[in-house]
Amino acid sequence: MEINFLVKKLREERILLREEFKILLGSGGEELHNAAREVCEEVFGRDVYIRGLIEFTNYCIRNCNYCGIRSGNSKLERYRLSLDEILACCAKGYELDIRTFVLQGGEDDFYNDERLVEIISRIKQNHPDCAITLSIGERSYESFKQLFNAGADRYLLRHETANADHYTTLHPPDLSLASRKKCLQDLKNIGYQVGCGFMVGSPGQTPDHIVDDFLFIKELDPHMVGIGPFMPHADTAYASEAPGDLNLVLNSLAILRLMKPTLLLPSTTALGTLSKRGRELGVLAGANVVMPNLSPRDVRKKYMLYDNKISTSDDAALTKSRIAEQMQNVGREIVVKRGDYGDV
Ligand code: SAH
Repeated sequence: MEINFLVKKLREERILLREEFKILLGSGGEELHNAAREVCEEVFGRDVYIRGLIEFTNYCIRNCNYCGIRSGNSKLERYRLSLDEILACCAKGYELDIRTFVLQGGEDDFYNDERLVEIISRIKQNHPDCAITLSIGERSYESFKQLFNAGADRYLLRHETANADHYTTLHPPDLSLASRKKCLQDLKNIGYQVGCGFMVGSPGQTPDHIVDDFLFIKELDPHMVGIGPFMPHADTAYASEAPGDLNLVLNSLAILRLMKPTLLLPSTTALGTLSKRGRELGVLAGANVVMPNLSPRDVRKKYMLYDNKISTSDDAALTKSRIAEQMQNVGREIVVKRGDYGDV
């Protein structure tokens, strides 16, 4: 009864008290997921938006404690894709009916504004009907602005955790939650469609921290939120930590859907790695975006943010067709559009 009441309250008021959020988070379950799915279908119908992920560099100057491509990982063979290789990934994606390209990478100084502006302009020239999302970490306001002017439409910058102390335990001292938040605000002010997000089950995370994430998201009011389970990586200090809990990820997705019905909410690769049916379950709990990998097969194993990442032996076509099938299994259809925020 109480769960039903809280689901209804969240659906109507789009916010809950801290203690109420904690109850839903811990024991939301099927009633919560069904309500989120219903709300998602009211807004998007059967449509699922698709983004092609291009992991164009695994060089990184940052040393985030959880991340497999952090600068301190000396075991990793580093790579960068050339402009032509990136354009080839986009062409392949376009053939596969993908109309959003997500350029993701470590924070790599080689890709200065000039090089990125060239990449963005060339993609836009070749595919004027496509959206470009950047996911390349923290940069200055001026840099964000230049990349936006060159044609970048969206920016993904997960805040990772909205609790400043927890942020400090997950990151080296040169990184702070305040600076992450400033970047997100800058991106919004410039006019990007902005995504923040967090890992569920990262070491030291408590239910209160996740509620801090919900409250921060309420305040920032982003267009997208990327969440997935924390997954351990063997060459990090968190090698023997447990991965995030499946139900906690699903409950978080569902709560976010009820907080903001029009939100773009991906069912992530990490969720698909945690559980074989992870991507389907994500959609059944309110997610409406999938992000197949378009990176060339020979670099996929080098972009291991965490262990056992799926699809690292497949090519783009196979990755996409698998995901399309997963969506059909749950009565959804991937659509051939950019899928901008507010399209519906
Ligand atoms: N350099 C970019 C992109 C980072 S990779 C940036 O700073 O935004 C994209 C996301 O992968 C990160 O934001 C983080 O939330 C997630 N990630 C990294 N390591 C992970 C791990 N071990 N388990 C789960 N997700 C992880």
